[in-house]
Amino acid sequence: MPCTHASSSARPKARRARVLLPLPLDTPFDYRVPSGGEIVPGHVVRVPFGSGERVGVAWDVAEGADDIEVADDRLKDVAEVLDVVPLDGAIRAFVDWVAAYYLVPRGRILRMVLSVPEALHPPRPTFGYGAGETAGLRLTAARERVLRAVAGGPVLSAAELAAAAGVGIGVVQGLAAAGALSRVALPAPAGFAAPDPSRPGPALSPEQAAATGALAARVAAGAFSVSVLDGVTGAGKTEVYFEAIAAALLRGQQVLVLLPEIALTAQWLGRFEARFGVQPAVWHSELGAARRRATWRAAASGAAALLVGARSALFLPLPRLGLIVVDEEHDASFKQEDGVMYNARDMAVVRARFAARPVVLVSATPSLETVANVESGRYQRLHLPKRHGGAQLPRIVAVDMRLERLPGDRWLSQALVDALIGARAAGTQAMLFLNRRGYAPLTLCRACGHRLQCPNCSAWLVEHRLSRRLQCHHCGFSRALPDACPECHAEGRLVACGPGVERLAEEAATLFPDARIAVMASDTLAGPKEAAAMIEAMTRGEIDLLIGTQIIAKGHHFPNLAVVGVVDADLGLGGGDLRAAERTYQMLAQVAGRAGRESHLGTVYLQTYMPEHPVMQALVAGERDAFVRRETAERRAHGMPPFGRLAAVILSGRSEPVVARSARALARAAPTAPGIRVLGPAPAPLALLRGDYRYRLLLKAERGVALQSVLREWLAAAPPLSGVRLQMDIDPYSFL
Ligand code: ADP
Ligand code: ZN
Repeated sequence: MPCTHASSSARPKARRARVLLPLPLDTPFDYRVPSGGEIVPGHVVRVPFGSGERVGVAWDVAEGADDIEVADDRLKDVAEVLDVVPLDGAIRAFVDWVAAYYLVPRGRILRMVLSVPEALHPPRPTFGYGAGETAGLRLTAARERVLRAVAGGPVLSAAELAAAAGVGIGVVQGLAAAGALSRVALPAPAGFAAPDPSRPGPALSPEQAAATGALAARVAAGAFSVSVLDGVTGAGKTEVYFEAIAAALLRGQQVLVLLPEIALTAQWLGRFEARFGVQPAVWHSELGAARRRATWRAAASGAAALLVGARSALFLPLPRLGLIVVDEEHDASFKQEDGVMYNARDMAVVRARFAARPVVLVSATPSLETVANVESGRYQRLHLPKRHGGAQLPRIVAVDMRLERLPGDRWLSQALVDALIGARAAGTQAMLFLNRRGYAPLTLCRACGHRLQCPNCSAWLVEHRLSRRLQCHHCGFSRALPDACPECHAEGRLVACGPGVERLAEEAATLFPDARIAVMASDTLAGPKEAAAMIEAMTRGEIDLLIGTQIIAKGHHFPNLAVVGVVDADLGLGGGDLRAAERTYQMLAQVAGRAGRESHLGTVYLQTYMPEHPVMQALVAGERDAFVRRETAERRAHGMPPFGRLAAVILSGRSEPVVARSARALARAAPTAPGIRVLGPAPAPLALLRGDYRYRLLLKAERGVALQSVLREWLAAAPPLSGVRLQMDIDPYSFL
């Protein structure tokens, strides 16, 4: 190309940093690198933006190009380079890729990386107060309380001290000014001590040793690979991937472990500590602000060697990343269902690819997606076919509920009750699983038939008897349980229909008045600590019968648990969800896998109205692979994932006609290329959510279709939306 700007090369061009900001924007902004300043791609920088300043990341740094939009003399300077290890090329490429895949601006993904803005600034030294010189001090009751709180206790900050003494902060400051308190440096937040990978692990079985060897070799290769650690519950998968973790730690690398439901991982942390001598760094949404900030910095600086967390941990910067483990990879909680609707399991594989490091997907019931990737040779499977130490897999029995003649307020079949009696007599523990919180899922008026519904959602209100309230599990709406029907005002005619875990506990208490019964559901627990305490109590045998929702199903190892009852095994099968059978199978296999993990032979009772359903048949016969083959064939025949691709478009807004009209307009602009079909629009099953009306469209495409460009062109061709929110769900898991 002939040079048409010969004269412009006479002046030296400014070095430009293209700075991506953690805002819903896709394009970085150009700033001038101040002369003498050193900025490399990945530097976290402060830049002028609008009337103020923002922190962003230099996405790339370039000498002035000719095709620039902003002339050199209009560029603003980068204000400051922050004291944070620059984001490496791997995580920047990951951000770009995730944004393009989920069709969101890159700045939104960057915001998930820079999730703790305070962590971008070095921690300020903080001071607390110790004892000072009190001779001649004028004493008041408040002052005396402060001095007592200081004596002998840990060093507290001014605010903490004031709170401990029950006085205003002015009293503390007054004492400090009088010299009666001395300033003392506070201890730094608990460090992230290095795990010791050279501590010996357990002696491994030959199968475990083979799997461990393969994983260690992949860690040593330091290249991208995907391993699937597939083994029955209790096979020792955790022990095996601990060895892979040890191999990475020995190389001085960081390891990221993703677990579903991090709030419940106390047992995992205990095992990690037993193996490696220290607690790892934990990442989840309930961390306190100071811990969050310290953890982010320790991850981003490379100081923390092992990060374990829920899905959002995937976006922590890890400059020395050597290995990623996704435990319970089939778990639906890896899919984020609001904001950026990403799948952390899938994106963990992408992150490993950009980092050129191995990733291990672990499960007793791998997802169909993962199985298909093993079959096509993209993923390598490592198999642990037997439980460790000769423990037997539990016996699984289907109880045909059509043959039970239970009174309307009873939910436990005779077979299950007998088994619970047997467990009591034998001194073993039992567990009842029902994935329904509260007392009853529906309240009905026996006078007029009215069903109590949420005013903001198309959902029934769930009775919570402990709190004597009705609650919506979608939006959090709650009201006191009324005495009279809100519709016909008949008194005393409201009845609770169906069981939740609270109601089961009531039935169990009637049957076993002297048993120690505990209920565990996300809303009966105050937080992760209480959950951990209850799991611990169950492990120690202080609970005879544990009743709970899916929170009790995952990962726990209860040595003395012999009987598991699944109260409504059919619960997940309704609703026409494409993964209903797969998920029900996974969930039930996981619950069942809690039983008989050590010396007792476990028995699992599946209460079902569909004992002939393929899911129940497969569980009873222990024929996982046949079930997976059958499901796979069905998905292939219908071109459903993983053999075809789906993207859902969800429109929502306050006005039903406006949302419906927009949905129809969007449908009219739908792409028509071969290999593509658009289904809908239709009102969503959750047609009303938090006061918003919702419509759905579903794009179904053959595997080879470039889904993202089809979607982008579709949205560009559609009339602009107003008064309507559009959400894009690529690879949807929920169809509500
Ligand atoms: P999974 O993760 O496959 O469900 P775990 O790793 O939890 O299985 O192992 C089940 C139980 O067996 C745990 O208590 C674990 O400590 C124990 N275990 C597994 N492998 C070994 C081994 N090689 N030596 C001693 N105990 C083991
Ligand atoms: Zn609601």
